[in-house]
Amino acid sequence: MRYISTRGQAPVRDFSGVLLAGLAEDGGLYMPQSWPSFSADDLRAMRGLPYADLAARVMTPFMAGSIDPDTILRLCRDSYAGFASKAVVPLVQLDSNLWTQELFHGPTLAFKDMALQLVGRLFDHVLNQRNERVTIVGATSGDTGSAAIEACAGRERVDICILHPEGRTSDVQRRQMTTVLAANVKNLAVAGTFDDCQDLVKAMFADVPFRSDVHLSAVNSINWARILGQIPYYVAAAIALGAPDREVDFAVPTGNFGNVLAAYAARRIGVPIGRLVVASNRNDILTRFLAANDMSVNGVEPSLSPSMDIQVSSNFERLLFELLDRDAAATASTMTEFRRTGKMPVSDAAWQRATALFTGFRLGDDETLAAIRALHAASGYLADPHSIIGIEAAAALGRPGTPIVAEATAHPAKFPDAIEQAIGIRPPLPTHLADLYEREERYSCVPADLSAIEAEVRALVARNAA
Ligand SMILES: *Cc1c(COP(=O)(O)O)cnc(C)c1O
Repeated sequence: MRYISTRGQAPVRDFSGVLLAGLAEDGGLYMPQSWPSFSADDLRAMRGLPYADLAARVMTPFMAGSIDPDTILRLCRDSYAGFASKAVVPLVQLDSNLWTQELFHGPTLAFKDMALQLVGRLFDHVLNQRNERVTIVGATSGDTGSAAIEACAGRERVDICILHPEGRTSDVQRRQMTTVLAANVKNLAVAGTFDDCQDLVKAMFADVPFRSDVHLSAVNSINWARILGQIPYYVAAAIALGAPDREVDFAVPTGNFGNVLAAYAARRIGVPIGRLVVASNRNDILTRFLAANDMSVNGVEPSLSPSMDIQVSSNFERLLFELLDRDAAATASTMTEFRRTGKMPVSDAAWQRATALFTGFRLGDDETLAAIRALHAASGYLADPHSIIGIEAAAALGRPGTPIVAEATAHPAKFPDAIEQAIGIRPPLPTHLADLYEREERYSCVPADLSAIEAEVRALVARNAA
């Protein structure tokens, strides 16, 4: 399988190359050159498979020529073995035609684990073959940092250093990062804001000698491997609810458009998905686009669902490329215009192709709290402030006769303050994290200063190279 950039000016790569490269050199995002195709019989043959085995089957054609099927199966089994649910991604029925699929049974209680647990192992495998090492750096306001750390902890070929703003993440979020004591993990508490942390990471990538000395890399959400690791659970849910013999719809709480893009990919490879509901909080750029072809930047407002607080959805470019019939020049010029003016010029024809499949939905903070409360009162089910937006979207936009699955992206215990506001009770941590507050923490406090931070990264690399 070969991968091409959405902007058409970067080298064509195989899967391993795309995994290590992340962003393409022309600023575009990698996409498979053609979509693999699963027949109705292929899908039927996956009924009843354990999740890891199904995931390996779905992902194998995407890695063809880079990673052999036995290795893929081994890495998938290893990635999901530690999940707190034996089903890995269990479906819970909430109404006659409405299910939620829980994607939060991994080590950090959020759906990012679904792809990142695999991505960490893929890095190790590919770097072993090449006899190389990399250093992952990243900035976090709390959520993605822990998933990246859990993905890399103890890997042989990877060091990871995550910057968080000192005193500005929640206790749960900080402890999920700082209690990981593996020798290849370093947490830096930066005296500054999240934006300072992000600027420092950018500055490390811009420092070319440093970047090549430590083999800097990232695992951010534009990496194709992260999308790929999210496709199988759509296939699993659809098959469990009757695919390929019945159409299934999905509602997805959305930020950077990575999760819902994976649903789109599942449809492209042959899963009969009828409608995709793109669920947003008050940061509703995607809802405005789908309602009125208005993709215009408004600035980010904080909400109760912080992982969906985005200004621009970075993975939308991949859908745009598809809507434009894979015309890379048109994709590049549309993105340039969007960056220049803050408004994306999408032709009526392309917009209509989008709205034929995708429907937007928006839920504000007050409605989010009310919905958590109402669902809990009616059924005892407790949804986190991200997942509830998908559930409300599914309830509002489900179609009679077609099952709809709302993706649940975080465990309620990850957002105890919002849950307490909604129902007056702080949800307990699940058993595998119950002792989080007793665990030893390890992190270094540093000033928001590039040379101080680069020295920390060099020390980490030197320690593990030895
Ligand atoms: C990252 C995240 C999202 C948004 O997912 P995207 O792939 O960026 O659209 C939603 N909910 C939670 C809990 C997340 O961590």
